[in-house]
Amino acid sequence: MIPLPPRGPPPSPRRAGNPRSCNARLADAGLREQVGYTGQAVCARTGGPVENRSTSHRPERTCVGCRTVAPRDQLVRLVMEQAPEGVAPRVRADPSGSAPGRGAWLHADASCLDLALKRGGFARSFRGAVDTGLLARDLEASYPLAFQGNR
Ligand SMILES: [Zn+2]
Repeated sequence: MIPLPPRGPPPSPRRAGNPRSCNARLADAGLREQVGYTGQAVCARTGGPVENRSTSHRPERTCVGCRTVAPRDQLVRLVMEQAPEGVAPRVRADPSGSAPGRGAWLHADASCLDLALKRGGFARSFRGAVDTGLLARDLEASYPLAFQGNR
């Protein structure tokens, strides 16, 4: 096997003047044992964690109602059903979170549903007119604790 030629100049790990990572500075300070092996790095400047992988890589979505960004597991997914041409597609709850098609995300909260309905958040998320007539009942059926009782 002939190795592929490298693209561009070869990486130089110790290029002069290049700002070095927090971890590299820690290693220089003799704190290497605090870095990497346990997955928990401690910043030399602040003393706090450099990066918390479990939160920094958690997917986030914007609530279609209040427009707040929230971790995906605090939101419920809504999905647009396929519809024949000329018919506004219906928006349904997607409790599985993985139904095919364009999705939108909503806090499991009746007030966010109201906001989305009043402000036209669904039409914006789904990029066109949608039929939300069944959505409230659908959400109540799928998430009774969140959407029932406070209307
Ligand atoms: Zn919300």
